[in-house]
Amino acid sequence: MTELLFRDDAYATGFDAVVTGAAPGRVVLDRTLFYPEGGGQPGDTGMLMLPDGRELKVADTRKGGQPGEVAHVLADAAADIPAGTRLAGRIDWERRHRLMRMHTCLHLLSAVIVAPVTGGAVGDGYGRLDFDLPESPDQAEVQEKLNALIRGDAPVSFRWITDAELDAQPELVKTLSVQPPRGAGKVRLVQVEGIDLQPCGGTHVRNIGEIGEVLIAKIEKKGKQNRRVRLEFPTA
Ligand SMILES: [Zn+2]
Repeated sequence: MTELLFRDDAYATGFDAVVTGAAPGRVVLDRTLFYPEGGGQPGDTGMLMLPDGRELKVADTRKGGQPGEVAHVLADAAADIPAGTRLAGRIDWERRHRLMRMHTCLHLLSAVIVAPVTGGAVGDGYGRLDFDLPESPDQAEVQEKLNALIRGDAPVSFRWITDAELDAQPELVKTLSVQPPRGAGKVRLVQVEGIDLQPCGGTHVRNIGEIGEVLIAKIEKKGKQNRRVRLEFPTA
């Protein structure tokens, strides 16, 4: 099992860890701040610093071969780090923060457009949600409502409930294609105060004002009952 340090503090950028398993180009650690791809959010990138001064670039982070394990995918596919090695890790914080801002923003979008979500993805500077909707919502109106919510700067908080409690409140699950992770007996809820509550294992900003201004790039028709809403951050 890899201890998921980003669950306790999504704002931490550096950590120490011990290699527990490795194959060429991959490293498994006892603890990590690197978020593994999942729930529509991409895996983190960054650096692992070895005691001998070498720096290994982490190109991606994935769920490992064993349940609860996180695999750091190295840019150097031949690098092989022995188990037991102590090292320091640092995530690419600028990129991660943009991913956090977009992820929280997609939760807000699911509160602005009241319809079942059938899919979604967080990208670096952009994102999308698919809605089960027969008609396209008004693009300008959605953008205005979303930015008005963001300006309200509501706080984001987390709490855990059991699988049974979640089963008793199926209305919490808005995303039909991305079911919350089960089996661990409990599920994490992400709450945007007064606006949204849903199960999610991703990383989020503390206050939604941090998201900043967002644009609706496009609303596409993707089938009779599907509308894809694409968001992006304005480029400076
Ligand atoms: Zn989420």
